[in-house]
Amino acid sequence: MADTAKISKKNCDVELQFLWQVSNALAGISDSKILLDKLKDILSHYFAVNSFQVFVKDNNTSALRDFVKNWITIEKNQQQELVKNIFNKLNKSGIDSFVLNNKVIKYSQKNILKLCCNALAEEKNLLYFPVFNENKLAGVIEINFNKILQELNDNFLYALRISMLQISSEISRKILNRNLCVHIQFQNVMKSIAKLIETQFDLDYILPIIGELIDRFVTEHLIYIFTKDEKANFKLFWPLDCQDEEILKLLQKMKKDRAYIISKNGKTGLFAIRNEDKTIGVIAASSNIDKLSQEEIDYLLQLSAQTSVTTQRANAYAQVLKYATLDALTGLNNRRQFETRLKQEFSNAKRNNKPLCCIMLDIDYFKHVNDTWGHSAGDCVLKNVAAIVSTELREYDIASRYGGEEFCILLPDTRIKEAAFVAQRLRKAVEKAEINISDDQILGKDFLNVTISVGVSELDKKTELPERLHQCADVALYEAKRRGRNRVVVYDESLE
Ligand code: GH3
Ligand code: MG
Ligand code: MG
Repeated sequence: MADTAKISKKNCDVELQFLWQVSNALAGISDSKILLDKLKDILSHYFAVNSFQVFVKDNNTSALRDFVKNWITIEKNQQQELVKNIFNKLNKSGIDSFVLNNKVIKYSQKNILKLCCNALAEEKNLLYFPVFNENKLAGVIEINFNKILQELNDNFLYALRISMLQISSEISRKILNRNLCVHIQFQNVMKSIAKLIETQFDLDYILPIIGELIDRFVTEHLIYIFTKDEKANFKLFWPLDCQDEEILKLLQKMKKDRAYIISKNGKTGLFAIRNEDKTIGVIAASSNIDKLSQEEIDYLLQLSAQTSVTTQRANAYAQVLKYATLDALTGLNNRRQFETRLKQEFSNAKRNNKPLCCIMLDIDYFKHVNDTWGHSAGDCVLKNVAAIVSTELREYDIASRYGGEEFCILLPDTRIKEAAFVAQRLRKAVEKAEINISDDQILGKDFLNVTISVGVSELDKKTELPERLHQCADVALYEAKRRGRNRVVVYDESLE
């Protein structure tokens, strides 16, 4: 609401009050949108304000963008032309000026107040102040007043100027901060991609994670990953569907020695994933709103290079691990080794007429852990569950990581009752455990709790198939899931 009575006072109380309110808002509000709303409220207290907006120049595309809705380039309409025009005017006239209804006014001019008043004959008054970033014009603050300023005095004009300088420096700080955040995020994505290789070697598992990481980083563009099939054609690998004609067209042009290719309109880019000299895949980024900025292209090039390294090492690891017996993440036996040991224990049990039991366990809602806290938190959970399994077992029990979040335990010389008891002990131990994930720097979350579902089976004396033991445990596990999870089910024939 206009408060003209106060403004016309001869002392500075009102101006100081105004400045004090602006400074308070700048110091106390970090969210850009809430801040601009608050500044508009403060201005509205003194003048009738229609709108208060900030436009910031994007150095990559030279478009002026709405600072708050930063992904929206102001539409190609009169306003864009007007703001561009004002931007150019302010760029020439320097820090000491502002624009009122298209007229540049310098603070140093004589009779500035009179100049302002003369410019204010119209109903609407558009006032533009410069935003500076490192001594360069970085944007404009636009205030659209409705019928005002007839009550403007010198003091108030200067108070307005001071406040706009303050706002300008806050915006410039936010721009720097935003750039810094983007860079930190980029480093984190690079680190995560590099880190994947420490524990994972399966490309089916790695590539979707890389896709998600990059997708989250380059938010304004959709990300796709293509790999080459046996016939050397590109096939979509992640996500499930790609309807983007431009990408499909560009893929044809992706020759083997190209590091990247950008579409004519600049909105789509393909970046090669390479193994030695061969292009083995492509990361595609596409948007129908925004061009890829030079900065994004640089980032994507580095990300695809990092992906190439990770992929190459994954391939090499896969070769080595083919012959390994232990699972790289948990240190338990891997699936191959489980199968070998199952055969051995099966024939031991048969030969010595001893019982043999199998426990199969699966973490409940594990996908949710990955989706909510990230894959490295998920890996941390896997390691911890594996460690609990190891400590709860006897020395001669054989624990293996059977698959993603499934574990299989062989209990030689053990009857079903005893095995069911061990299974309950494991279930309780996992339920009770506070799993520390603080290493992953997940804000506000240091510990996770998970539960497991467990199936237990005993070797049927009549069977000649070692796999049967494991199959029965699996049936029981399925039943434990069906009954609501976090429970133990012992196999019996009626379950099949
Ligand atoms: P349910 O209670 O029915 O078992 O639900 P769930 O979410 O645990 O089951 P689902 O089988 O749908 O999800 C298993 C997930 O485990 C999917 C996969 O991304 C994840 N996963 C598999 N291997 C790994 C791994 O090595 N590390 C991590 N972090 N996740 C993995
Ligand atoms: Mg599960
Ligand atoms: Mg599972």
